[in-house]
Formats: sequence, C-alpha cells, structure tokens
Amino acid sequence: ANTITEYDTIAAISTPVGEGAISIVRLSGEDSVAIANRVFRGKDLNEVPSHTINYGHIVDPETDEVIDEVMVSVMRAPKTFTREDVIEINCHGGLLATNHILQLLLAHGARAAEPGEYTKRAFLNGRIDLTQAESVMDLIRAKTDRAMQVAVNQLDGNLAHLIQNLRQEILQVLAQVEVNIDYPEYDEDELTTKMLLEKADLVGQQIDTLLKTARQGKVLREGLATAIIGRPNVGKSSLLNYLLHEDKAIVTDVAGTTRDVIEEYVNVNGVPLKLVDTAGIHKTEDKVEKIGVDRSRQALAQAELVLLVLNQSEPITDEDRELLKATQAKKRIILLNKTDLPARLKAAELASYLAPDERPINISILKQSGTDTLETKISELFFGGIETNQATVLVTNARQISLLQQAKQSLEDVKSGIAAGMPIDLVQIDMTNCWDKLGEITGESAPDELITQLFSQFCLGK
Ligand code: GDP
Ligand code: ZN
Repeated sequence: ANTITEYDTIAAISTPVGEGAISIVRLSGEDSVAIANRVFRGKDLNEVPSHTINYGHIVDPETDEVIDEVMVSVMRAPKTFTREDVIEINCHGGLLATNHILQLLLAHGARAAEPGEYTKRAFLNGRIDLTQAESVMDLIRAKTDRAMQVAVNQLDGNLAHLIQNLRQEILQVLAQVEVNIDYPEYDEDELTTKMLLEKADLVGQQIDTLLKTARQGKVLREGLATAIIGRPNVGKSSLLNYLLHEDKAIVTDVAGTTRDVIEEYVNVNGVPLKLVDTAGIHKTEDKVEKIGVDRSRQALAQAELVLLVLNQSEPITDEDRELLKATQAKKRIILLNKTDLPARLKAAELASYLAPDERPINISILKQSGTDTLETKISELFFGGIETNQATVLVTNARQISLLQQAKQSLEDVKSGIAAGMPIDLVQIDMTNCWDKLGEITGESAPDELITQLFSQFCLGK
C-alpha cells in the first residue's frame, strides 16, 4: 500500500448520481478546508467553528462564474467519519452543477477519491473496524428496514465486540498453556488438555450461533431469490404486480454500479425478495402456449424460494403436475389462485404432490384475499426460529462467514489433535490459528491486500 498518497485530500460526489434534490460533494484530508475555501464565497471557512453549516456560493475563481448556491459543512478532525478534516458541500444542483463543483475541487488541489476510500481511511485511522466498514456498504445497499437495522448494529460494533471477546477467551487459554509449558514441574498434561478442550467447546458454540444467523444475514443483504412460476394464465403477472405494488417495491439503484439484468426487489414483512426472471413472467403473455413451463424451469434453478401458482378454478393439468414435481425439493409456497371462482381443482389429487405438513394457500389475487396469509407465510419461513430484535447480531457477509468457518475448523483440529495425543505445542498452533482467523474478521490481523480489495467494492464517494 502506498501510505504517502493515502492521506492526501480526496473528493467525490457522495450521493447517488442523478437522484434526489440535494447532492453532496465531500472532501476529506488535511487541505479540505483550504481547498473548499478557494471556491467558496461566503464566510471564510478557515475562521468558522468546527461542525457548522455555512451558507454561500460555489464560484469558479478564474471566471467568477457562480456554479451553485450551497450549504457547506465544516468538520475538523478528529471527530469526523474519517478522523480527518471533512467538508461536505450540499448543493441542490442536478448532475451538471454537482459535477462542475467536483471538477473545481479537483482543479484546486483535491484528488478524485477511489471507491470506498473514505471508509478505508476511517478504518486505517482506527475509527472503525472491518465489520463496521462492511456495514457501511450494507447500509448503502440495505433493502429493508431490518437489513438496515442489522447494518446499524454492526456499525455500532456489536459483531466486533463479540469477536473480540472470543479472541480474549482464546488468549487466556493460550497464556495458561504457555505457563504450563514453561514450568514443566507444574505441568499436568491432563489439566492443560482439559482446559483447551473446554475452551474449544465454548468458543466453538458461540461461533456456531453466529454461523446460524448467516443465512438470514445473507438474505437480508442480498434478497431472497424468489421465482413465481406456473402455467400460463394462472395469475403470475397479477401476483407480480401485486407484490410490486406501491410501497412494497424497493428502489435498488446503487451509485457507481451497473447491472445488465434488471432485478426487482420487494419488501414482504421485512423480508427482501429478489424476484428472479420477472421478464419470463411477462413473456408467457406473448407466447402463451410454449414458453410457460420451460421458462419456469430456468427460473426455478436460480430460486431459493418458489411461489407456485395454480388456478383452483380449473382441474390440475399435466403442466401443473410437472411443476409440482419439479419444485418438490425446493422451499416453496403453493398458491391456489382465483378462489373468487368456483373450485374445480381436486384437493385429493393435489395432496398426493404435497409434503405431509405442506399447506397451500387459498388466494384471490384479483380480490386481494389471502394475500395477507401469503405475506405472513413468507416472513415465517424466513424468520422462523430466529430472534430478530434490534440487538441481534447477524453475520451478513461471505467474507465473515468463511472466516468463521475456518476459525471453527481450527477448533475441530484442536480437538482431534488432543484426541490423537498430539504434543501440546502443536495443538497450540491450531488454537492460535483460530485466534488469527477471528482477528481477520475485524481487521486486526488482516493482510494489506485484502483490505485494498475489500474497500474497492464500495461505491464511489463512500
Ligand atoms: P399469468 O399468465 O400466469 O401471468 O396470469 P395473469 O396474471 O396474466 O392472469 C391471467 C388472467 O387471470 C387475467 O385475466 C387475470 O385478470 C386473471 N386473474 C388473475 N388472478 C385472478 C383471480 O384471483 N381471480 C380471477 N377471477 N381472475 C384472476
Ligand atoms: Zn401474465
């Protein structure tokens, strides 16, 4: 890492480009105030107290052209996100004015920030740990209130504290083992191994608890890939439209990223569903006969949850049977749609395709009856068996999960080593390994490379 340029003054637009009425251009670094002052007409920013907001105009000093009317926040180190001097220019301009301001700042001494560079500085300056840095990213991408809450908890350092406690436990036992090795006259091998085993169990259990939350965490972060399938005309588009209706649709554009596939996210009782292959749903309308089942199969392959729609006002068809079979191994919810019409689907035949405890949901999407039951069912499926109060720590991210698994593996190695009668100093290595892996989660023992790679995943301006 190039530690010299690490701390020059950086600038970026830190609000999503082209969205909202206000944009923020942010500076961080030693020269933030001086650089802003060069293009600001209003109070002398060098003179204003820290943590104040100052009204004025951004003016190109070369041409005297007024670019925008702005509010400038001056926040001096160390009580800032990066622990450096930070300036935030709130402008109400569209893209053009905002860009113009950024260009002016770059022309007057700032350097364009790399993606994630603000957060990286906060980490390098000791303001936050890696789990907190990752939660900043989660916050940016949070798709529901719950996802937001999880990210906020992590930003508070809850996960980091948990991990630090586990490391402390391990450190204690390692120190004790060291003493026992150094003073062999006191050494009672049995006592040492007993202590190691107990600790491996204790720490292992807590890691397991964290790992159990991982699936929920991942879903909150990424959305639960959900496919709506069914033969033509059963009501798939109607269901899709219902789900996308008003407040349920989640705006997902993340600044600085492009996606070639449009994914649609909806918030169902706090569970973000990522609807897969919604294009396929619309397509069945054009070519009713052919595409239905084939297309459904493709969507099925990607789905973690299947909403299988049947039309209960008609008898089961071969296509229905095929889809019932194809989804048997999936997490699915079967919807018997069009309950406003007379029932012609034979319950007994349907039952032969269901798991013993599987309960299809009667629904009329047209009349919006049964839709509450569907929504409740989705959140039960997802949150069932897990506490989700505000203090819950959920492991949300693949890097963290993988490190927890490796830490757990080291503990298994400790146990099997002891069982095989390995010398204590070898067992000690595995225990130390566990300590190391846990430290990587918070960044206390993370290699440089990893840090660079991790922060490059952030959006520009964060
Ligand atoms: P898709 O081909 O599976 O996407 O089905 P659509 O959503 O396009 O619906 C096919 C037809 O069924 C449309 O005319 C809908 O208005 C109608 N439909 C959808 N849901 C219901 C319902 O609950 N009751 C009734 N009576 N008609 C429905
Ligand atoms: Zn349709």
